[in-house]
Amino acid sequence: MENNFDAIILGGGLAGLTLSMQLRRQNPDIRVLVLEKRDGAAPDAAHKVGESTVELATHYLREVLGLKDYLDTHQLPKHGLRFFFPAKGKNEIHHRVELGPKRLLPVPSHQLDRGILENDLIKFSIDLGNEVVMGAKVEDVALGNPSHTVTYSVDGEKVTRTARWVVDATGRGSFMKRKLGFAQTIDHDVSSVWFRVDWKIDIDTWTDDAKWHSHVEPGLRFLSTVHLMDAGYWVWIIPLVGDRTSVGIVADQAIHPFETYNKLEKALDWIATNEPQLSRELKAMEGKGNILDFKVMKHFAHGSGELYSTDRWSVVGEAGLFADPFYSPGSDFISMANTLTADLIQRDLKGEDILFRTKFYCEVTRALYDNWMPIYIGQYPLWGKAQIMVAKIFWDWGAYWSINTLLFTNNGLTDLDLLRKLTAGPTSLLRKYGELSRQMQRLFKDWLPYDNAEIADRYTDPFDLGFLRGFQEDIVEKQFDRDELLEKFDANLAILEKVAAETYRLASNQAYGTPMDLEVDPYTMSLNGDPRSASPNSMVLGRDAYIADEMRHMWIYPYPEEVMA
Ligand SMILES: Cc1cc2nc3c(=O)[nH]c(=O)nc-3n(C[C@H](O)[C@H](O)[C@H](O)COP(=O)(O)OP(=O)(O)OC[C@H]3O[C@@H](n4cnc5c(N)ncnc54)[C@H](O)[C@@H]3O)c2cc1C
Repeated sequence: MENNFDAIILGGGLAGLTLSMQLRRQNPDIRVLVLEKRDGAAPDAAHKVGESTVELATHYLREVLGLKDYLDTHQLPKHGLRFFFPAKGKNEIHHRVELGPKRLLPVPSHQLDRGILENDLIKFSIDLGNEVVMGAKVEDVALGNPSHTVTYSVDGEKVTRTARWVVDATGRGSFMKRKLGFAQTIDHDVSSVWFRVDWKIDIDTWTDDAKWHSHVEPGLRFLSTVHLMDAGYWVWIIPLVGDRTSVGIVADQAIHPFETYNKLEKALDWIATNEPQLSRELKAMEGKGNILDFKVMKHFAHGSGELYSTDRWSVVGEAGLFADPFYSPGSDFISMANTLTADLIQRDLKGEDILFRTKFYCEVTRALYDNWMPIYIGQYPLWGKAQIMVAKIFWDWGAYWSINTLLFTNNGLTDLDLLRKLTAGPTSLLRKYGELSRQMQRLFKDWLPYDNAEIADRYTDPFDLGFLRGFQEDIVEKQFDRDELLEKFDANLAILEKVAAETYRLASNQAYGTPMDLEVDPYTMSLNGDPRSASPNSMVLGRDAYIADEMRHMWIYPYPEEVMA
């Protein structure tokens, strides 16, 4: 093996292997070494979590890495995220408020068996010309100039290799964080346990209710990532290839202490108490099916003081930042950090001065992450409130598709001129977007005391809202040039502002009976009477007939005008 590489990637999990492929696809001459401490193949089904992909990561895997055919052939297609809120004791799925798509979605996504995927990614990376060493435990990294030196052990022997770049993709091993001490804690005390079963859990078999079955095209519910929701928790059910299923509990420590579900028996008891229908499924299979594994992760959110260093190293995947698995954004953050890292490496190898770009990429990643965290922090108490959650999920998806995903799928994340335009000054698009997002997350929290009626037997599909459908279609149907993209972002933000104002009208009507023709400033609106600070983006919005009409689809209570009539 040669000694001097362009890049050494520490850790051959999802982040490290995909980065190695991306680098080589961009530049067939680049010399990349991946060091993975696991010796031998990963097991099928019971390997790692991170099984459900959403739009941004799907684009990365299918288009950037060229894995479209592989994913269509070897992994399961996914039919969106699907949520069930509590109703009538959670005993019958057809009584629960359901949110999820009824027809095939414009943007494909996947349910990944991580063991099968990682084994295949190793082959793909080697086929592209990378060197991947298994059983290689990284012991030390000495940062230097012009090369860094990496020491690893394999079969009891110490080996040293040098490289211009080092990328930490060791997941929660967090090699560089530990070495240089830049770990950051995040005040979001949520934990998880999960297990895989060797049979197919298909919620379609949980009820014979004909009306409920008629809501969704046959067979599609099974392919969704199912979320069973109530105050302080969600339980996932994810189908895997080979008729196996992943099941996980994710819960807020303040409402469901980790100690109440952190062992398999306790978790099964917890499920019996909180999700009786899933418990019946598990009990019915006792003696017939097997539980394949049981894993725990306490307080999973973590930050990172460093991301991309001007000294030619970076952290990607869970070695960097991790927020929360709700909405499955883990592989999105991998896609973004890998894309920024790959861009810096390729430019540096071509001799470009990347100092400014490196710092700018750190700022952009932090801004995206800081906008993302309020989606979760302090929001778990809302998880059982059907109306707030329908409004929140529709909002979070709309924002994610119309800004974050569009930016990524149109190669905007590495377009410095575009990013400058989007971030320059307090009234720039991404600043406004961040401010509006924070306002909305506050609104959802302030709404909590007022959303108390129990609603049952309701179904809602986000794609019944024309603007949400349009946001998703834009991701696949067109590549925008820079000017078109800027125009598109402006138009999308204008829609989001109107959606924010209309959501406020609905919440305020529910809380205080205020009229639906209220004029609203989405940047300073406040539901709890606590005035928000003045904003340079302040505006007064009257009611928009189109948005109001579309948003009737998301209102699961009797619609306000009918109530007031
Ligand atoms: C409860 C939960 C649910 C989740 N669900 C989803 C989901 O549905 N969808 C999604 O996209 N994401 C999800 N995620 C996030 C997802 O799991 C992670 O984003 C992803 O697995 C991180 O991949 P990675 O490559 O960074 O780390 P890993 O997959 O952990 O890979 C790191 C690799 O580095 C190796 N390594 C460690 N130390 C060393 C060393 N010293 N030397 C050499 N090798 C080393 C390890 O063996 C490992 O193979 C979830 C996360 C949690 C906590």
